[in-house]
Amino acid sequence: MKHQGITVFVDRDGTLNEDPGYLSNPDALVLYPGVVEAVARLKQAECAVILVTNQSGIGRGYFSQVDLRAIHDKLERLLREGGGGLDGIFFCPHLPDAGCECRKPNPGLIHQAVESLQVSVTRSYMVGDKRSDMELANNIGAIGVLVNTSSVSQDAIDAKRRGELRIECITLTFHEAAEWILQDAQTRQWSNG
Ligand SMILES: [Mg+2]
Ligand SMILES: [Zn+2]
Repeated sequence: MKHQGITVFVDRDGTLNEDPGYLSNPDALVLYPGVVEAVARLKQAECAVILVTNQSGIGRGYFSQVDLRAIHDKLERLLREGGGGLDGIFFCPHLPDAGCECRKPNPGLIHQAVESLQVSVTRSYMVGDKRSDMELANNIGAIGVLVNTSSVSQDAIDAKRRGELRIECITLTFHEAAEWILQDAQTRQWSNG
């Protein structure tokens, strides 16, 4: 089944790849098992797949935009070799206290994606491993899918339990998340827009 017009916004670290903390070198980029196949499945279904990632390591001076580009070149190569790929990559380079509009959970990266790629937010999913990813989902009206890959994911689960956060699905891997999205998109009654 095709899901044209559906957008899947995806976090990077801890969602697609192991998160060593301030990943600064393409050699240290390690994708989780099943990620390449899952992105290919989403692309086969004609979903737009867009990376949205906070990279404050740039603002902190830990690595440069050139380093980040090298990491993303490798990521795109790995995904393309598996038959998938990304429709776009949007990142926030700023420090957490910079007050910018693009650091998740602020919606600036989503606005950049909508402006440059004309993708739909009203029919969208946001997949991530942190509370800020699910807050972003809530902020833009996307369907939140949490990948519970590490201890940092627990904060989001606790917030959901307290009723502070909407999370539609919690999985252990991005591969499971993608399978859930493909199922969910078939049954959901989308509002117009
Ligand atoms: Mg993450
Ligand atoms: Zn920013």
